[in-house]
Amino acid sequence: MSIQKDTFSCDVCIVGAGITGLTLAYYLQSAGLRVRVLEKASKPGGVMQTEISDGFLFDKGPNGTFFKSQAVKQLIDDLGLQARVQFTNENAAKRYLVKDGKLQPLSNQPMAFLTSNLLSWRGKLRLCIEPFLRAKSGGSRESVADFARRRLGQEALDRLIDPLIAGIYAGNPEKLDFHFTLPRLAALEQQYGSMGRALLAMKRARRKKSASELAKSKMFSFDGGMHVLAESLSRQLGDALMLGAEVQSLEQSPNSVEVKYYDAVEGMCVLNARRLVLATPAYASAALLAPIHTNTADALMNINYSPVAVAFHGYEKKQIEHPLDGFGFLVPAIENRKVLGSIWSSTKFLNRAPDGHVALTTFIGGERQPELLQNDEDTLIKIVESELRDLIGVSGQPTSRKIRILPKAIPQFGLQHKAVLETITTFEAEHHQIRIAGNFLKGVGVADCIANASTMAKEIAEEYHAGRKAQRDVRKNPQAYEPTPTMRI
Ligand SMILES: Cc1cc2nc3c(=O)[nH]c(=O)nc-3n(C[C@H](O)[C@H](O)[C@H](O)COP(=O)(O)OP(=O)(O)OC[C@H]3O[C@@H](n4cnc5c(N)ncnc54)[C@H](O)[C@@H]3O)c2cc1C
Repeated sequence: MSIQKDTFSCDVCIVGAGITGLTLAYYLQSAGLRVRVLEKASKPGGVMQTEISDGFLFDKGPNGTFFKSQAVKQLIDDLGLQARVQFTNENAAKRYLVKDGKLQPLSNQPMAFLTSNLLSWRGKLRLCIEPFLRAKSGGSRESVADFARRRLGQEALDRLIDPLIAGIYAGNPEKLDFHFTLPRLAALEQQYGSMGRALLAMKRARRKKSASELAKSKMFSFDGGMHVLAESLSRQLGDALMLGAEVQSLEQSPNSVEVKYYDAVEGMCVLNARRLVLATPAYASAALLAPIHTNTADALMNINYSPVAVAFHGYEKKQIEHPLDGFGFLVPAIENRKVLGSIWSSTKFLNRAPDGHVALTTFIGGERQPELLQNDEDTLIKIVESELRDLIGVSGQPTSRKIRILPKAIPQFGLQHKAVLETITTFEAEHHQIRIAGNFLKGVGVADCIANASTMAKEIAEEYHAGRKAQRDVRKNPQAYEPTPTMRI
């Protein structure tokens, strides 16, 4: 097989054009670095994909995110996408949980919650003692389930926390590290000593916020779905983004990394990069790093991913008994149902379905029932339709139906996660040319990916420019300088 030598020797090669890789590449290019992004798929965006068909808009990965950090706002401003941002509709604030096979509203008003039948009186009383419990001190690892049992009681774990974890991670609370999985709750416990006190403080803070600040704390997407973000970043990158380019191996030398990739048109190609960022899923980064550093590859390979199938349904509104007056519903494991939850996409955002129709996005599988994903697509769709019939009273055939199966969908921050991060930090310190990025490190949300990629881009650009300056200084006065890591750029 002949190998094409790519004459483009770049400053930074980024493998993977999900939101992490695209954001990184965009900011590095903006900082004046020569960038190349290699993406094996024929479309950018990775998990983030949107499909428009039969008049419905289906987000086939993330369906929204938050202005959780300044980095997200900055990116939207930098890309000029402000006018395309769509916040969730007012009537999507309500959330439902399944209890005894029926949808029950989950109120965020303490009195309404305490008078609802989501928890038994015993469960509610257990919740009421939460503010009087001491906060946990010290840095010992704790699972999400242990945290919930310690502060809120077993029933709240089963009825509230378990479905929350299903909704974000499709995960099992017994196996997830509390501090990495729910970092905000962990910080609130440390800051306020109790969840009850934290809720009160947050309520007081909300009252002080202006209407426009409050509006911005809501989830948002774009008029054309989440893929608008990936498309906009890709347009900015232009030829620096190569689609259909699958990286197959890496070879490290003291001053660069040789990247071998397979291009559908050109065949095997080689690219020399001064720096490399792996913005691929943990298991893909592990495979590429195995010949370079076994320990790091093993640590990455051990990051578990929950398997998820996402079903999309378009119905006529009159086919559904439930008013769909909210965000959607989540299902606790003890309900023994076959779906994790469903998002009422057309209630949540404008223009997701034609007039008189509704769009639903339903999740199935996860750590709870991975075996369901052994079924073929038709069977999975039938399972979802039967659950929607039972839970929200759907009748008849849908106008549109699709399914996306993701055998490795969402990374799980397991109890070994702190050790994984330490292994990666040590690796990066010892292998100056290579950085590891992605949703499996410090947060799976799109907003986390953007914030972490923006920070990494800043670090790499600063090092790069410092290295260039040092090289110029050395050339002017070779005797005066000892080589330092940043000068190896
Ligand atoms: C079903 C689902 C729903 C979600 N919903 C939400 C939501 O509503 N809100 C939210 O904030 N987050 C949500 N998330 C999480 C969020 O979408 C992801 O965490 C985020 O998009 C991941 O981005 P990434 O760039 O880190 O990784 P990815 O999107 O996985 O990108 C990695 C890229 O690397 C490429 N690649 C892999 N191997 C190679 C190789 N050898 N050579 C070249 N390229 C390679 C892949 O093709 C891929 O494009 C959801 C996730 C899923 C799965």
